[in-house]
Amino acid sequence: MTSKSKTAINRDDRWLLSRLDHIWDQYFPNILQTNKVFIKFGRFAKYRLGSIRLDKKTKISFITITSMFKDPNIPPEVVDHTIGHELVHYAHGFSSVHPRLHKYPHAGGVVKKEMAERGMGYLYESYKKWIKSYRQTVRITHGW
Ligand SMILES: [Zn+2]
Repeated sequence: MTSKSKTAINRDDRWLLSRLDHIWDQYFPNILQTNKVFIKFGRFAKYRLGSIRLDKKTKISFITITSMFKDPNIPPEVVDHTIGHELVHYAHGFSSVHPRLHKYPHAGGVVKKEMAERGMGYLYESYKKWIKSYRQTVRITHGW
């Protein structure tokens, strides 16, 4: 089988952490990590690609990424986009201990705007392309 060559980079939680570190260094150098931040694959969610929550007791932020993204056929930029999106929430004070900058996490397209300003516009472009064909696939599979 060809599965070996395809999974040259094994997409596990360690891989996710390396992507998070890279994205943080590259695009969020001015955002201090003022609490512990964990990242891991969650369940195989078709629509909720990523999420971030703060454990109020331990003050740990948890980023969860859909296990669907373990599939090596999904462009790594799409995974990076999802991590970048959650980090914008973190930077804006949602599910982090940073001051809250907006009333709502997605108010007026602030996430997309912030990503573009931080140089992640190309990630959004990859995501947009992928989500378009993905939605079509899901629609066909489910007969919508
Ligand atoms: Zn969001």
